[in-house]
Amino acid sequence: MMIMMPGGNIPSPITLSPLKRISASRFFDMQLCSYREVLVSNGLEKLLPSSPNKFFGLAAHSFLQKVGSGLINEPDDFENGWLTTVSEVEQLLLLSEREKHLIPLSKTVKQFEVRKRVLFNKASSLIVNRRTECKSASNLFHGIESWFQTADGVVGGYLDRVLLTESGYEIIDYKTGAIIDKYTMDIKDAYKYQLFLYAALFYENLNEWPSALKIQGINGEEFCINYKKDECVRILNQAREMFHRVNELITRFNEQTELQKHLAQPVPENCCYCSVRPLCNAYWEAKEKYPQLKWNNDIRGQFKSLSILGNGTYLLKIKSGVKTYKIRGLKPDRHRILEGSFLSIYNLSSDKSENCFSENILTTIYTN
Ligand code: SF4
Repeated sequence: MMIMMPGGNIPSPITLSPLKRISASRFFDMQLCSYREVLVSNGLEKLLPSSPNKFFGLAAHSFLQKVGSGLINEPDDFENGWLTTVSEVEQLLLLSEREKHLIPLSKTVKQFEVRKRVLFNKASSLIVNRRTECKSASNLFHGIESWFQTADGVVGGYLDRVLLTESGYEIIDYKTGAIIDKYTMDIKDAYKYQLFLYAALFYENLNEWPSALKIQGINGEEFCINYKKDECVRILNQAREMFHRVNELITRFNEQTELQKHLAQPVPENCCYCSVRPLCNAYWEAKEKYPQLKWNNDIRGQFKSLSILGNGTYLLKIKSGVKTYKIRGLKPDRHRILEGSFLSIYNLSSDKSENCFSENILTTIYTN
């Protein structure tokens, strides 16, 4: 039996080219797992779907940029502007076999309407601010992202907004997701690193340090990040060193398994949202070696049986060592399951019984 759907065969490993540069917004993630970042920067297509919330965030960011740059100018235009922006994101999703089932976002994003209202409030205050700033004519690169990079081109980043105030230049970055880390109750480290790098890049380009580093959430909340100049320079140097070290390893090891040994850092916190898990042996090896850790509900094993349940969904059984896993609720139109094959299944929901799982909107099946 063969059903054609997303997932499918795991792609062959691609030949990896050296990095062209390190982006300020990705440096923190690069420190967590360089292998993932190298694959992504080499254009490897995502192998697993992202949460619909991520696409809401992309649409929200794009919408705020349109408002910030004056493309959307009045609150009366918000509804149409938002529909157009969401539709642009959905057009991209339509091109992806793995993610087109996430359309319409208005149905798959939780609390879509509430989030939209919060976004519109933020957009209204942006318009007010923009008009005030236009009157004072004191802002420099307002509204439009500005690109800064090191002289050697090795590290670079887009600054969402640079504002000239009485105390100097403020760098402002917009975020659509949570800004505060739920464990430390402080601004997320990834965002701090990003802004530290922006400050150092700003200094490298204009020979002047920003007076403030700020992050704004879509609800208008603003957070200041305190920084030390020498710390920003140190982090910029770390990014440069990482660029050269990673590229040296890519050039030295053609063989992916060997490269993974040097660049992959498989721990649950790094791997849980990683979209290249199906290509990462290091992930599966660590998951099987340290099963007591809190890994994703991903399983793999040999096909055992496939049956149709009364509600029209599939019950799949796969065998892994002495264990038999049962996965129920698989929608026939979403998965390709080859009888007799070795399967790896990602993003399952755990069921009440041991070794039993069920499908959710992000579940994806690959055949090795
Ligand atoms: S699965 Fe984990 S170790 Fe592998 S590339 Fe992704 S984050 Fe890195």
